[in-house]
Amino acid sequence: MKRITVFLLLLLLAVIQLAAASYDVFRYIDILHTDLHINVSSHSSALDGEVHFSAVAVQDLNEETSIGMHAYRLHIDSAAVNGERAEVYYHLPIPPPEFFVIVLPETMSIPEGDTITVSIWYTRIDYPDMEEDRDGYYFFKKDESRWGQTALETIGYTMSQPRDARAWFPTVDKPWNKSTLSMHITIDPPVNVIANGELLDTVDNPVGSVTYIYDHQYPIAPYLFAFNFGPFEEYGDVYNSIDGRDIPIASYLIDDDATWAEQANAMMKDMLGVFEEMFGPYPFERYGMIAIQPFKFAGMEHQTISTMNRTHFLNERVVAHELAHHWWGNLVTCEDWKNIWLNEGFASYAEALYTEVKYGIPQRDIVMKRFADRYFTEDSQTRYPIYDPPDEYLFGRAIYQKGAWVLHMLRNIVGDDSFFTALRGYADQYAYSTAVTDDLQHVFEQQTDIDNLDWFFSQWVYQAGYPVYQIDSEVTEAENQGMYDISLALRQIQTNAPEVFQAPVEFLLRHEQGDTVFTFWNDQREQNYLFSFESKPDTIIFDPDNKILKKFDDASSVEKMAGLPDRITLYQNYPNPFNATTVIEYAVPEAMSIRLRVIDALGREVKILVDGLQQAGVHTANFDASGYASGIYFIVMEAGGFSKVRKMTYIR
Ligand SMILES: [Zn+2]
Repeated sequence: MKRITVFLLLLLLAVIQLAAASYDVFRYIDILHTDLHINVSSHSSALDGEVHFSAVAVQDLNEETSIGMHAYRLHIDSAAVNGERAEVYYHLPIPPPEFFVIVLPETMSIPEGDTITVSIWYTRIDYPDMEEDRDGYYFFKKDESRWGQTALETIGYTMSQPRDARAWFPTVDKPWNKSTLSMHITIDPPVNVIANGELLDTVDNPVGSVTYIYDHQYPIAPYLFAFNFGPFEEYGDVYNSIDGRDIPIASYLIDDDATWAEQANAMMKDMLGVFEEMFGPYPFERYGMIAIQPFKFAGMEHQTISTMNRTHFLNERVVAHELAHHWWGNLVTCEDWKNIWLNEGFASYAEALYTEVKYGIPQRDIVMKRFADRYFTEDSQTRYPIYDPPDEYLFGRAIYQKGAWVLHMLRNIVGDDSFFTALRGYADQYAYSTAVTDDLQHVFEQQTDIDNLDWFFSQWVYQAGYPVYQIDSEVTEAENQGMYDISLALRQIQTNAPEVFQAPVEFLLRHEQGDTVFTFWNDQREQNYLFSFESKPDTIIFDPDNKILKKFDDASSVEKMAGLPDRITLYQNYPNPFNATTVIEYAVPEAMSIRLRVIDALGREVKILVDGLQQAGVHTANFDASGYASGIYFIVMEAGGFSKVRKMTYIR
């Protein structure tokens, strides 16, 4: 009976608290240091602990200004402010609560700017109606399975992003809450505990347990806190940083995986070298990777100790991604999850950058093409902007793959030198702090030739979708002898997206003397470019280096991609309708026999244009209809079991 009364009273108080809390109760204090003490078991999922925050009051604090914190599936046993016991009230709805407030003792008042310590003692419990996979802390006995993966040893670890840190310790569980960290993990031997930063000491306790004391001197957001335990062996090495530091690196592996250490350490060192050249010195005191199974993700960039799904431990792209996060995500952290693309778009693009340095631009372009394809597949189901995505798409393909493309396009617009200078400038300005999309934009506006990038960020970041182009070209002999008039018509036909994607657009004209690239500014939905040229182009290629994330309308008459076509294609003839000649373009991805012919509306063969072996590439055939009746004709292309028909109209 008493319990219920107390419960109702607590609810009432919580409602009062929140009614008054139109201000942000999570920002009343600025946490400078988090001192976390956790007890875990090596044979059950039990977890309890205490956390001591050293903070600064951001405003005057007293019993009317309650300090807000997050906790999920935690029971708060007690709390204290500056060593004095303080009351705790939970937010609705219950169960399970997501946050609580700490009320200062009646007699206490702390002026703005003063230091304050907040201590909380807690026990992890199971509430009813908890969301699946929001464990925060995961414990697996040997041979236990989850997500289709089986534990090879008994292990425990944490995984918090985006908002599950609060499921293993109470804190202001926001990415902007960065503090330095010390972590004391107490557990029964024999296991090894691996956590953020440096292992300072291990202490044998009288009861037989061991406490691992880790210390991390750099600011870290709660979602990047991590500890892991299990029979992990450390395989260490040293990386020589460009700024002269000897940085310890390590692989943490169970015995089964011991042979991976050498390759993994070599990979880490190689990537550190590549990324330091591009992004600046590695920003923390050490780096390591631990191989975990079962793990729900491919990897997670826990600060200084990335958690890798065992299946991906030697996966170059995943290794590069998690390491790159140490600049993009960990050094510069997105201020809130609306800006998650600043973490994930960057780390994804770093995969492409590493590929570029290591294997060359064609391989990089293959990575970018896969990114585009993956994004298009998701986009065909659901479309959303990469800024402030719907909650269920926080880790969607647009965030990762389109995010990477946004950076690639930005690079192509400002140029390589400016891009990497601005990128390092952005890292410097927001180092060990947080940033929003606007901050990135302003750095690029200050550090490149382009003073205003509103148009770019508006269309690519704050709005959804991509351009779909329809392109036609016409080449005629100019009045001026030996010159040709080139007419290019560029249309954007995308729907449910910005009316116009502005961009510098490139057209490559392939002619007898070689290739010539023309660049135009495209800022209208329908735009024509007219100019004279001294050669007759055989082929006109739009965006030859594939600099824009885009699709084409099938009716476009201009070749679509640089390099070799990836499939057998018959393009629409141009001009169409025509009098009396027209050009027919077709593409084959490899050398093969093809037959290209024209038939009339009754199916009678009119003319065979091509019959024989063709090399890989884009080819052109001309059809001269002089002497035939006006009307409808069909072009039929047959190649390698493939047959394609296009309709054309001859007007006399
Ligand atoms: Zn990531």
